[in-house]
Amino acid sequence: MNEYDSEKMADVLYESQGYELTDDPESADLLLVNTCSIREKAQEKVFSQLGRWRKIKEKNPNIKIGVGGCVASQEGEGITKRAPFVDIVFGPQTLHRLPELIDTADREAKAVIDISFPKVEKFNNFPKARDVQASAFVSIMEGCSKICSFCVVPATRGHEVSRLPEQIIDEINDLAMKGVREINLLGQNVNAYLAKNKNNIRVRLADLLKLVSAIEGIERIRYTTSHPLQFTDDLIEAYKDRKMANYLHLPVQSGSDRILKLMRRKYKVERYLDRIKKLRLIRPDISISSDFIVGFPGETREDFEATLSLVDQVGFDQSFSFIYSQRPNTKAAEMFDDVDHETKLKRLQQLQIKINKNAKKISDAMVGTIQTVLIEKKSKKNENQLTGRTENNRWVNFDGPDSLIGEFVDVIITEAMPNSLRGRLASKSISAVSI
Ligand code: SAH
Repeated sequence: MNEYDSEKMADVLYESQGYELTDDPESADLLLVNTCSIREKAQEKVFSQLGRWRKIKEKNPNIKIGVGGCVASQEGEGITKRAPFVDIVFGPQTLHRLPELIDTADREAKAVIDISFPKVEKFNNFPKARDVQASAFVSIMEGCSKICSFCVVPATRGHEVSRLPEQIIDEINDLAMKGVREINLLGQNVNAYLAKNKNNIRVRLADLLKLVSAIEGIERIRYTTSHPLQFTDDLIEAYKDRKMANYLHLPVQSGSDRILKLMRRKYKVERYLDRIKKLRLIRPDISISSDFIVGFPGETREDFEATLSLVDQVGFDQSFSFIYSQRPNTKAAEMFDDVDHETKLKRLQQLQIKINKNAKKISDAMVGTIQTVLIEKKSKKNENQLTGRTENNRWVNFDGPDSLIGEFVDVIITEAMPNSLRGRLASKSISAVSI
């Protein structure tokens, strides 16, 4: 989501005032940091980044510094108190107002803060995308109304707000015309998507997926993040459509019902397993990835063992796991955190080793198979190689001509590395090149 928001900041600033992106902060007129406050560590990084930029501003006082995103939304004036050299503070819902905010900061020569929540105004004010690649993010909803006890999102991004379906489809039509082949629908809780179309008919995520699938040029569809509670049957049915990537990221957080209850996740492990079982009736070989929090207040060894056991039962693919981080204005922050840091670290390692083993097993089993790969760019390490992603979200590197960038090709997987795969173009794809 932050990546998408950052792209939109660049688009809005280019369209309104001709700003171009630069990788060199010393040569910039404007320095923006888009922040995340999901865990404390991410939040602390903001201030170390600002510390580095302060030195640049001391040399060049004309430079403007802006802080956007969820830390800005959470801290507001706290940012300019701690870092008085910051000129603009804006939240995730006000990034489209950046041009005005910069003007105001110029005129008034003091910090400008706008962290309000003007519902859908942002989406109505986005310019069309400029530089597209083979795969693109598109926001469909924002915020979350689930109020999980550990999570800061409802406080920073606000409650669930869905974009109009027509607006989403227009954006994807435009991207498809510019060459995008894969769409990743974004939201804090995409399966809570609910909006009325212009004929006043309710559109849910499963309906939206059909509309996206009908767009010419779009051949692969992903979405992130979804919630097990609203992982409804119609969404499972959507996987009958082969354009849906053979991959699902469905955060479970814990394998213990007791902890799930304390987390206020509103489902039990059984529900999660039932959803996966049903999905696998349609897609037996789908890769399932997840998010886990270890060391939630009160987590016992037994609770943690239940999480490990769930990993075995589901056979999760590459997943994300985190040590619980206490966040302001959340219910869990009031709970007594009795798990010591050492134990949390050990549990995290144990969980990660288990998940990585699973992921490696899945990668190994791919060796010798032919995979459909969407080529996104040249490989970073080797100029003559291309890199793209399989349906189950693995990067594959292989030899091939630049002219194939942006295309789907068949690749024979030859080797599984810890974080990527190696392969070679299958003969079908090679003959397509020579034509
Ligand atoms: N909408 C998703 C959450 C996405 S946030 C859901 O409801 O499942 C990405 C991940 O960050 C979460 O899935 C969770 O695993 C992790 N996370 C969120 N808050 C956290 C916290 N306070 N401490 C540690 N990890 C957290």
